[in-house]
Amino acid sequence: MKEMDVFCKIVNGEIPCYKLFEDNDVLAFLDISQVTKGHALVIPKVHYDNFLSVPHDIMHKVMDVAQRIGQVDIKILGAKGVNILTNCYEAAGQSVNHFHVHVIPRYAEGEGFAIEMKAGDAENINLPAIASTIKSELK
Ligand SMILES: [Zn+2]
Repeated sequence: MKEMDVFCKIVNGEIPCYKLFEDNDVLAFLDISQVTKGHALVIPKVHYDNFLSVPHDIMHKVMDVAQRIGQVDIKILGAKGVNILTNCYEAAGQSVNHFHVHVIPRYAEGEGFAIEMKAGDAENINLPAIASTIKSELK
Protein backbone atom coordinates (compact mmCIF):
# COMPACT_ATOMS: atom_id res chain seq x y z
CA MET A 1 0.00 0.00 0.00
CA LYS A 2 1.22 3.45 -0.92
CA GLU A 3 2.25 5.56 2.05
CA MET A 4 -0.09 8.41 2.89
CA ASP A 5 1.03 11.94 2.12
CA VAL A 6 1.19 14.57 4.85
CA PHE A 7 -2.12 16.21 3.84
CA CYS A 8 -4.03 12.91 3.97
CA LYS A 9 -2.56 12.50 7.46
CA ILE A 10 -3.80 15.97 8.42
CA VAL A 11 -7.28 15.10 7.09
CA ASN A 12 -7.22 11.89 9.13
CA GLY A 13 -6.12 13.74 12.24
CA GLU A 14 -2.79 11.89 12.45
CA ILE A 15 -0.96 15.21 12.17
CA PRO A 16 -2.33 18.30 13.94
CA CYS A 17 -2.94 21.59 12.17
CA TYR A 18 -4.23 25.08 12.81
CA LYS A 19 -7.62 24.63 11.19
CA LEU A 20 -9.24 27.62 9.47
CA PHE A 21 -12.25 26.00 7.80
CA GLU A 22 -13.73 22.56 7.40
CA ASP A 23 -16.80 21.08 5.76
CA ASN A 24 -17.54 17.68 4.24
CA ASP A 25 -15.25 18.18 1.24
CA VAL A 26 -12.70 20.87 2.06
CA LEU A 27 -10.15 21.58 4.77
CA ALA A 28 -8.19 24.83 5.16
CA PHE A 29 -5.33 25.30 7.61
CA LEU A 30 -2.24 27.39 8.22
CA ASP A 31 0.84 26.33 6.27
CA ILE A 32 3.44 25.46 8.88
CA SER A 33 6.15 27.25 6.86
CA GLN A 34 4.28 30.62 7.00
CA VAL A 35 5.94 32.24 3.98
CA THR A 36 4.03 35.29 5.22
CA LYS A 37 1.73 35.78 8.23
CA GLY A 38 -1.51 33.92 7.59
CA HIS A 39 -0.20 31.74 4.72
CA ALA A 40 -2.95 29.15 4.31
CA LEU A 41 -3.50 25.91 2.42
CA VAL A 42 -6.84 24.73 1.09
CA ILE A 43 -7.21 21.05 0.19
CA PRO A 44 -9.90 18.54 -0.72
CA LYS A 45 -10.40 15.92 2.00
CA VAL A 46 -10.42 13.17 -0.61
CA HIS A 47 -7.03 12.63 -2.19
CA TYR A 48 -6.38 13.94 -5.70
CA ASP A 49 -2.84 14.39 -6.97
CA ASN A 50 -3.17 17.97 -8.18
CA PHE A 51 -5.30 20.68 -9.79
CA LEU A 52 -5.21 18.89 -13.13
CA SER A 53 -6.80 15.70 -11.81
CA VAL A 54 -9.35 17.01 -9.31
CA PRO A 55 -13.03 16.80 -10.37
CA HIS A 56 -14.69 20.13 -11.21
CA ASP A 57 -17.13 20.23 -8.30
CA ILE A 58 -14.38 19.62 -5.74
CA MET A 59 -12.05 22.12 -7.45
CA HIS A 60 -14.78 24.74 -7.28
CA LYS A 61 -15.34 24.11 -3.57
CA VAL A 62 -11.62 24.41 -2.86
CA MET A 63 -11.32 27.63 -4.89
CA ASP A 64 -14.38 29.09 -3.15
CA VAL A 65 -12.71 28.66 0.24
CA ALA A 66 -9.43 30.05 -1.13
CA GLN A 67 -11.27 33.15 -2.32
CA ARG A 68 -12.92 33.66 1.05
CA ILE A 69 -9.60 33.35 2.89
CA GLY A 70 -8.04 35.86 0.48
CA GLN A 71 -10.86 38.27 1.22
CA VAL A 72 -10.23 37.88 4.97
CA ASP A 73 -6.50 38.48 4.42
CA ILE A 74 -7.26 41.86 2.86
CA LYS A 75 -10.15 42.88 5.08
CA ILE A 76 -8.98 41.64 8.48
CA LEU A 77 -5.25 40.88 8.40
CA GLY A 78 -4.44 44.08 6.55
CA ALA A 79 -2.71 42.41 3.62
CA LYS A 80 -2.12 44.67 0.62
CA GLY A 81 -2.37 41.77 -1.81
CA VAL A 82 -2.78 38.00 -1.97
CA ASN A 83 -1.19 35.29 -4.11
CA ILE A 84 -3.39 32.30 -4.79
CA LEU A 85 -1.43 29.56 -6.44
CA THR A 86 -1.24 25.86 -7.01
CA ASN A 87 1.65 23.84 -8.41
CA CYS A 88 1.11 20.81 -10.63
CA TYR A 89 3.85 18.17 -10.65
CA GLU A 90 7.39 18.36 -9.37
CA ALA A 91 8.64 20.29 -12.41
CA ALA A 92 6.36 23.15 -11.35
CA GLY A 93 7.40 22.99 -7.71
CA GLN A 94 4.70 20.71 -6.29
CA SER A 95 6.21 19.24 -3.12
CA VAL A 96 3.22 17.39 -1.66
CA ASN A 97 1.39 15.10 -4.07
CA HIS A 98 -2.11 16.07 -2.84
CA PHE A 99 -3.99 18.92 -4.54
CA HIS A 100 -3.54 22.10 -2.50
CA VAL A 101 -4.01 25.79 -3.07
CA HIS A 102 -1.74 28.29 -1.34
CA VAL A 103 -3.32 31.52 -0.15
CA ILE A 104 -0.44 33.84 0.68
CA PRO A 105 -1.19 37.31 2.03
CA ARG A 106 1.26 39.99 0.94
CA TYR A 107 2.05 42.91 3.21
CA ALA A 108 5.01 44.47 1.47
CA GLU A 109 6.48 44.13 -1.96
CA GLY A 110 9.08 41.37 -2.19
CA GLU A 111 8.31 39.99 1.28
CA GLY A 112 8.51 36.24 1.65
CA PHE A 113 8.90 35.26 -1.95
CA ALA A 114 8.75 36.61 -5.46
CA ILE A 115 7.09 35.38 -8.58
CA GLU A 116 9.22 36.58 -11.39
CA MET A 117 8.01 36.14 -14.94
CA LYS A 118 10.78 36.73 -17.40
CA ALA A 119 9.97 37.10 -21.04
CA GLY A 120 10.80 33.83 -22.78
CA ASP A 121 12.02 33.05 -26.27
CA ALA A 122 8.86 34.25 -28.06
CA GLU A 123 10.74 35.02 -31.28
CA ASN A 124 11.64 31.36 -31.65
CA ILE A 125 8.24 29.98 -30.68
CA ASN A 126 5.76 29.41 -33.47
CA LEU A 127 2.82 31.25 -31.87
CA PRO A 128 0.20 30.40 -34.52
CA ALA A 129 1.13 26.70 -34.32
CA ILE A 130 1.11 26.49 -30.51
CA ALA A 131 -2.15 28.47 -30.34
CA SER A 132 -3.72 26.16 -32.90
CA THR A 133 -2.58 23.02 -31.02
CA ILE A 134 -3.96 24.18 -27.66
CA LYS A 135 -7.14 25.59 -29.20
CA SER A 136 -8.03 22.37 -30.99
CA GLU A 137 -7.64 20.36 -27.77
CA LEU A 138 -10.00 22.72 -25.91
CA LYS A 139 -12.88 22.16 -28.35
ZN1 LIG B 1 -3.40 12.84 0.00
